[in-house]
This record gives sequence, C-alpha cells and structure tokens, in this order.
Amino acid sequence: MSRKLIAGNWKMNGSLAANEALLKGVLGGLNAPACDIAVCVPSAYLAQCQTLLAGSPVALGAQDVSQHEAGAFTGEISTAMLKEFGVRYAIVGHSERRQYHGETDAVVAAKAQRALAGGVTPIVCVGETLAEREAGKTEEVVKRQLAAVIHLNGHCISEIVVAYEPVWAIGTGKTATPEQAQAVHAVLRAQLKAATPQSDRIAILYGGSMNAANAAQLLAQPDIDGGLIGGAALKAPDFLTIIAAAH
Ligand code: PEP
Repeated sequence: MSRKLIAGNWKMNGSLAANEALLKGVLGGLNAPACDIAVCVPSAYLAQCQTLLAGSPVALGAQDVSQHEAGAFTGEISTAMLKEFGVRYAIVGHSERRQYHGETDAVVAAKAQRALAGGVTPIVCVGETLAEREAGKTEEVVKRQLAAVIHLNGHCISEIVVAYEPVWAIGTGKTATPEQAQAVHAVLRAQLKAATPQSDRIAILYGGSMNAANAAQLLAQPDIDGGLIGGAALKAPDFLTIIAAAH
C-alpha cells in the first residue's frame, strides 16, 4: 500500500449546522495530508457535504448502498444515486447493519458487487463479536466474512477496501491492542494474497475506538493501512490528529 486511508463514519449523527462546522474545521486544519481521507455521511446530507467538500482532498462516502439496481425497494439508495452526488466510497456490512438489519454475508457481498459495478468503492467491514473472540473463533469468523466477498466478486476484488472492526471495540472505548489488530490484519492479508495477485492494492483499515491517542500506534502496524473512525470523526481536532498520524 502506498497511501493510507482515513475514513470517518458519522453514523446517524449530524445536522446541517453541525456538518458545516465539522467539515469547515477539518478542511481548515488540513495541511498537505500524507494520506487519503473520506467521510461517510448520512444519505440525507450527501448533497450538502458534496458542496462543502468540492475541490478538497476529502472524498465523500455513504454508509450503505442497496444490493439492487433500481425499482421497488422503499427506503433504499442505489449506487447510481450515490454517484450523482460524487460519492467515492460506500461502507457495506458494518456490524450495525449486520446486527440491527439482519445483513448476511450474502447480502453484504451483493452490495459490494453492486457498488463495484457502479464505480463506487465498497469498504467491506468484517469483525468478530466478543463471544466469538472468547470462543477462539475470531479467525474463522473474519475469514468467512471476507471469503463471501472474494468468491462473489472474483475478478474485481482488488478494487475493494476491507475494514477489520472487532464488534466489541466499536463505540465501546475498548480498542484492540496494536498486536491484536495486527494479528487479524495479517490473516486477512494472507487470505487476500491467496485470492488475487493484486492484493497489494487492497487497503485493510482498522476500526473500533480508534482515537487521537491510540491512532499512531495502530497505524504503525505493518498490515494496518488506515482507519475507519466513528466517534472521533465527529470532532475536527481528533479527526485531524488521526489524519496526521497516517503516513
Ligand atoms: C465505526 O462505527 O466504524 C467505528 C469504528 O466506531 P468507533 O470509532 O466509534 O468505535
């Protein structure tokens, strides 16, 4: 990997006023960033954020995308619609979608495939729950989740971004230690290498309570190519500190 990627996931947070203040704070504090940067915003704010980010080094992302192309799917948003707002990335398979919306590996893979076909880079999230970790199943779970995407997408797998997000570390303040994260990233890296000769192009992000204080250590691990940041992406100074740590 050449440049790391720092992507914010705002989740269901924000308002017109708060988004403007946040993005102005982030853009105002950027100083020739050495990494790629994105913010994945609520769909309702894509148009606003597209305008605020125009001409900046911060790419626009969505938090989900439909597995369907178009039609009678009330509430869903298609890749083509995202493209109209200049969206570059879409998170798919976030653990909150898997947990609260029943998204299976097959649904996640279909979403990733639809995004890729439409020219949006899917950020595919994988990660084990606390119970799975304690049962010694971490490797088995993340490999199964990643395999679903690798097998369905075949030829274009090298265009995805992977995010390892241990569920027990998301929004809990419990970060994986750099060693714990690196160990899983190495497993995912090996799986990608076995699947495609272009695995070097695939960024593997870490997500789960990454913050201004722990980012540098996590990002220093050999197989951690960036971060997917929830809570700390809502505070411009913290997000900027994480961006500065990614080089
Ligand atoms: C996330 O939602 O992807 C995430 C990593 O959240 P947090 O940083 O708040 O744990």
